[in-house]
Amino acid sequence: MDHIIQIKDKRFTISIPEAAILREVDRVAQELERDLADKNPLFLSVLNGSFMFTADLMKRLPFPCELSFVRLASYQGTSSSGSVKEVIGLNENIKGRTVVIVEDIVDTGLTMQRLLETLSALHPQEIHIATLLLKPDKLMADLNIEYVAMRIPNDFIVGYGLDYDGLGRNYKDIYTVID
Ligand code: 5GP
Repeated sequence: MDHIIQIKDKRFTISIPEAAILREVDRVAQELERDLADKNPLFLSVLNGSFMFTADLMKRLPFPCELSFVRLASYQGTSSSGSVKEVIGLNENIKGRTVVIVEDIVDTGLTMQRLLETLSALHPQEIHIATLLLKPDKLMADLNIEYVAMRIPNDFIVGYGLDYDGLGRNYKDIYTVID
């Protein structure tokens, strides 16, 4: 196990080893089972960053549920509002469903807020949020995040699905930037 990795111009060190991640994924899975086992929830995994978390989480859910993937595409608006995010890939009818958004990391929460607005307009019965990571100090949006695997400081991280400029998603541990 390499404790320090280099990706492009940055060095990172292991901050959360795989075993510690999986302990928390176990706990979140148990909480989901406790709360949603009889609701046939539809899990909506937000690509790309949450693919590894989604796989480990789904393996631990011993009740009927469905999984679909969405992606948030950034595009430059023609107005001065700048960068907007559009939800793409949602093919399921979520009306009346119990939906669980599966995210890699909630930072300011603005991405999640946008996603919630889009999904709410489709009239699901309820929407829950499950995130691998939360940076509580950066959170700006007023969100009810019920399922959080780990809370972390403000530093930039990679690994376990998260990237730096497209690289680093493949590492099984989570790494924090050093310099
Ligand atoms: P938010 O809208 O909550 O500020 O940003 C959420 C998104 O920013 C995440 O889905 C993720 O793509 C990206 N992000 C935020 N913090 C980090 C980080 O520390 N590392 C990586 N790789 N992505 C991050």
